[in-house]
Amino acid sequence: MSRYIATRALRGANSLVSEAEVMLQKALQEKGPETPVSFPNTAYYLPTISGMTGINVETLGQLKEVLGQARTLLHPLPSENHWTPYLGETLDSGMATLLAAETIEAVRFVYGLQPEACPGFLLAGGTSYGPEDGKDHLNGPIDDIQLRSWGIQLVDGRMPGFAAIVGCAKSNAVAVKLVRELQRRNILTFLSGNVNGRSIIHQLQEEGVELGYDTYTVPFGTDTLSAIYALGFATRSALTFGGLKPGMAHEILLYNKERVFAFVLALGEVDDLKYAAAAGAINYGFPVIADTVIPEILPTGVTTYEHVVSMPFDEIAGKDDLDKAEQLIQKCIEVRGVKVKVSNVDVPVPYGSAFEGEVVRKADLRVEFGGKHSRCFEFLHMAKLDEVTDGKVEIVGPNFSGVAAQGSMDLGIVAKVAGRQMQADFEPVLERQIHYFVNGASGIQHIGQRDITWIRVSNVAAEKGFDLEHFGKILHARFHEDFGAIVDKVEVMIVTDPKGHTEWLEKARAAYDFRNKRLADLTDDKVDEFYSCTLCQSFAPNHVCVVSPERLGLCGAYNWLDCKASYSINPTGPNQPIKLGKLQDFVKGYWEGTNEYARIGSHGAVQEVSMYSIMENPMTACGCFECIVMLIPEANGVMVVSREDTAMTPAGMTFSTLAGIAGGGLQTPGVMGVGKFYLISPKFISADGGFKRVIWMSSVLKESMADEFKAVCEREGDPDLLDKIADERNVTEVEDLLAWLEAHNHPALVMDPMF
Ligand code: SF4
Ligand code: ZN
Repeated sequence: MSRYIATRALRGANSLVSEAEVMLQKALQEKGPETPVSFPNTAYYLPTISGMTGINVETLGQLKEVLGQARTLLHPLPSENHWTPYLGETLDSGMATLLAAETIEAVRFVYGLQPEACPGFLLAGGTSYGPEDGKDHLNGPIDDIQLRSWGIQLVDGRMPGFAAIVGCAKSNAVAVKLVRELQRRNILTFLSGNVNGRSIIHQLQEEGVELGYDTYTVPFGTDTLSAIYALGFATRSALTFGGLKPGMAHEILLYNKERVFAFVLALGEVDDLKYAAAAGAINYGFPVIADTVIPEILPTGVTTYEHVVSMPFDEIAGKDDLDKAEQLIQKCIEVRGVKVKVSNVDVPVPYGSAFEGEVVRKADLRVEFGGKHSRCFEFLHMAKLDEVTDGKVEIVGPNFSGVAAQGSMDLGIVAKVAGRQMQADFEPVLERQIHYFVNGASGIQHIGQRDITWIRVSNVAAEKGFDLEHFGKILHARFHEDFGAIVDKVEVMIVTDPKGHTEWLEKARAAYDFRNKRLADLTDDKVDEFYSCTLCQSFAPNHVCVVSPERLGLCGAYNWLDCKASYSINPTGPNQPIKLGKLQDFVKGYWEGTNEYARIGSHGAVQEVSMYSIMENPMTACGCFECIVMLIPEANGVMVVSREDTAMTPAGMTFSTLAGIAGGGLQTPGVMGVGKFYLISPKFISADGGFKRVIWMSSVLKESMADEFKAVCEREGDPDLLDKIADERNVTEVEDLLAWLEAHNHPALVMDPMF
């Protein structure tokens, strides 16, 4: 370790720990040691402190012990003629810095100073601080819910890692370019820090860049300390997905080093505190790349020295600043070894998954297809190889140049694909990708599917030349790229001509009907194999989803047909057929094949898995579940809590607390994580009495799936059942729940005891 870096990091750590001590002392006097402290929407207490020390801080008083530990990690500054390596001491001081930084942020929360106020700022998605939240603030720490939903993308490779940017870029244009380069690669970007009061967050805001969860760019705060939230995120990744426990500091750091592809990009001058924080990040194996001169580090951008890279911005080879910004990101990626996949889609607007969440507002609208005033559908069908001209994009009818500003027109997207491995069963799987593919274009918003598709094109996109043919170009490129194993040829027709539109819509609807019937007929007893999904094992090493026609994966993203298609695309991939073999118990859902697979797939952690019971050998969960189903013993039934529900449940815990119990790849009788469409399956906890056991359900589920649940209630022979199920609007405690069930005559009260 360079003496220069060591000296400055040690100095930064020493002064931050002292600052934290003073601040805590004052808070203890003013507020008292019993004052609760927490970060919002997390079950992991103060996550870095919990992970590194095992102390689960709930009150101000407990922070004294934390700072005591931080102090023991401090070292005196190296003397002028002292030549031993300082790596150990520097890393220690980095750790002390993290403990002190998280302590300070926690104290600031107590005083209402976090998240940082930012009047008039609207987060795109982002942490919500209650129902009245107008989002006049930066994000602060990341929610558990968001952490988990990104978890899926981190494992399936859609999101290669994260970048923590600290400081301020050379210019606003450079700031935007840096972020766009990261977004293009779907790398999550965390923003914090400033240089002389000016932060990259200000720069991006001034340029109108949408910041928030939806665009993969999270503004933590404009000071350096808020960068601690990035390490809190990393720590929770290891706890959530790696099955590690608080206090397993060494394992948590190692997990991050090996599995979390993250780096720190320090923009502008690096002060003592930044050196100290950088030393903290290096503990996690995250390298630090600075765009300034770091003394004693050769400023070539090629030499790495103990995880610190100096790449002075003006010395980067490149024709202009934007080019240099691109090179800088490229370098960061090389240094960390981040695996990225860039789509080469030939469209006149930026393209990448980071743009999927973009919203096109009415004021920015050039033209829309579908919605209130027009009809839009999309339809993908297979054909013989010689019937498809690969790459052909045909426009049937006028383009949108004649449509008035903010107007609408009818549109049909018809994709014809062929391939030796293609099967009719894959048509819906591929068709559903159109949503993601089209949404990847910046300035294009895609909602819905089939004949309720709704697409908006923004003014900016239209001005850049985005036209109808680009829908075809996107689909052609992405189907080849992502589904090359089953798709050899892709041809796309875009229909706006009224006659053609009507004709194709009819054909499409006939196909949708056919598929619906096929799906309804596809029951667990009609197939010889289920599929495994082990995608989440890189986070939750012993978790396996067993996916059957009537039970989809708990994240909701993979049903039986998806797994079947995925297996065809990638025969050695995460979805393997599970030959059912001998049936052991059809009521509880045991087969020789599923049990055997559960044992092997879980590396012996699970001996048997029941497909249809929550009480006996329930399926494990990794953390990505859409809903949690949990036994309420007093009520002889189960509650269903949605990931979107932040309110209190009758179990006395919120979703995020429950998630801590349900996840981790363990079997917990009475608790199960599920995909929401499993709730409407005839096989939903059918061994325990099925849907009639549901006595409480988050209202967001009741409302968003009202039609589906109505049909289920009819099927279960109790058409009014949905009205007998309580939700958080009327019941949040067990006593009230029991009264509600009595008053509404809920069937669970007279069913057999659940256990
Ligand atoms: Fe993870 Fe299960 Fe979803 Fe696969 S199906 S991605 S294992 S949650
Ligand atoms: Zn998962």
